[in-house]
Amino acid sequence: KPIVLSGVQPSGELSIGNYMGALRQWEQMQDDFDCQYCVVDLHAITVRQDPKALHEATLDALAICLAVGVDPKKSSLFVQSHVPEHAQLGWILNCYTQMGELNRMTQFKDKSARHANDVNVGLYGYPVLMAADILLYGAHKVPVGSDQKQHLELARDIANRFNNLYGSEDQPIFEVPEPYIPAMNARVMSLQDATRKMSKSDDNRKNVITLLEEPKSILKKINKAQTDAQNPPSIIHDVENKAGIANLMGLYSGATGKTFADIEAQYAGVEMYGPFKKDVGEAIVAMLEPVQAEYKRIRADRAYMDAVMKAGAEKASARAAVTLKKAYEAVGFVARP
Ligand code: ATP
Ligand code: MG
Repeated sequence: KPIVLSGVQPSGELSIGNYMGALRQWEQMQDDFDCQYCVVDLHAITVRQDPKALHEATLDALAICLAVGVDPKKSSLFVQSHVPEHAQLGWILNCYTQMGELNRMTQFKDKSARHANDVNVGLYGYPVLMAADILLYGAHKVPVGSDQKQHLELARDIANRFNNLYGSEDQPIFEVPEPYIPAMNARVMSLQDATRKMSKSDDNRKNVITLLEEPKSILKKINKAQTDAQNPPSIIHDVENKAGIANLMGLYSGATGKTFADIEAQYAGVEMYGPFKKDVGEAIVAMLEPVQAEYKRIRADRAYMDAVMKAGAEKASARAAVTLKKAYEAVGFVARP
């Protein structure tokens, strides 16, 4: 089976964007791929985190992965900092990445503008650590939202560079990863600004719906979500001119399986946004209900979570160590006797 790697940062409460754009696919890919899923806490500290909050968010994220159906018997599920090889390979790859390449990364530009008082070296090197995550497991496929495409491209460049320097045609050091665009490839936008992606770490909480959010709060946020001033109002999928409505339609479609054409037909002639928003909110509540119930059950069972983390870290480390050793030998490090 082709190897897949994907991660989620415990940088806050996971959002419905993370669910529709990543976690839901994680569950579905398990039968066809050899999946490596990680809660990437090393990545999360590239933005300042409160230590207690990071601790809880890491356990919450792990419980959510399990709640959405990641099966630790089928897939590797682990916490990134439990597998030291990530930081170790990350360092090596830093030395094979040019500053000019990182300067071009739009996520860095975006996040360093948002956190102007803490533009740390880790934030700058984020894509290099992500390359290490991917290359350690020899991942063939990396499911990428459009926010991560550029980072995957860089991981490919680094892998090719390293292979050209130290590998041979038939014995490359690293597998060069391909992007994997899942069939249901949703991109969820911010509720108050549908030109920006929804981000779980957004300071404006009106932009975000979390996976664990109360129904009342979900309905309220959807009710207040950005629409447009078209007169009369129409529920038509037009990302250019009606980004807010397009985003709500994306959420509705993602929650119910209805196509955009279905939705347009459903609201044809309804010259109001209120009833549509109410339906969208209720559909999201219904989608999240089973996930929330399962999450509560798992999160209360710390012994089970510990067992998952322990087994996951051992499985991941065993594989990662093989690649790290290859990289160490390639650059000329003396093996520890
Ligand atoms: P942060 O704001 O801290 O970067 P985030 O919401 O962007 O948080 P990540 O942990 O960076 O979440 O990303 C986890 C996964 O979720 C990635 O696969 C990413 O592509 C996907 N993802 C993130 N935001 C969205 C979104 N708005 N729509 C669809 N997928 C998303
Ligand atoms: Mg992100």
